[in-house]
Amino acid sequence: STLLEDVKARIRDVPDFPKPGILFKDVTPVLADPHLFGRVVNAMAAPFRGRHITKVVGMEARGFLVGAPVALALHAGFAPARKPGKLPYKTVTERYALEYGDDGLQLHEDAVGRGDRVLIVDDLLATGGTAEATAKLVTKLGGEVVGFSFLISLDFLPGRERLGPEKVCALISY
Ligand code: IMP
Repeated sequence: STLLEDVKARIRDVPDFPKPGILFKDVTPVLADPHLFGRVVNAMAAPFRGRHITKVVGMEARGFLVGAPVALALHAGFAPARKPGKLPYKTVTERYALEYGDDGLQLHEDAVGRGDRVLIVDDLLATGGTAEATAKLVTKLGGEVVGFSFLISLDFLPGRERLGPEKVCALISY
């Protein structure tokens, strides 16, 4: 069987989470299998090998789980992008719109700098709001966004277009 088939078989669909009408893609069964997790990390890193990535930024919270091992696979550093008020040191902030209301993300001001070549990593791309805000934080700090790597992309939503399709890699698309 192929990696794609193995991963698809382990992604669990949870109806009505976190709200009625939403079908949540749960990746925890993928992470629980050490062999599969390793193959997934390798495949998420593969398109960016040889592209001189210096930093991976992963978004709270599942972006930490896939971002940190992808960073190690690329011999890059890792920086967490977190919800406001969670990072202990000086931060930069980007606010972004949600379906109802708004949210924000922060990076430590020294997490990324001029000359950094950054890969943004998360478990799932939906509308692209989270990843776009993260890209803005990286740019604010003088870093270059080389690309985005997702485990899953929901291609019936405009996320891929919003980020620039040539920059987006996803292992699985629905
Ligand atoms: P976006 O900002 O609309 O692209 O939403 C993506 C963010 O929401 C990512 O940080 C995902 O982890 C999270 N997310 C949205 N839907 C799902 C899902 O079905 N499974 C896992 N994470 C999701």
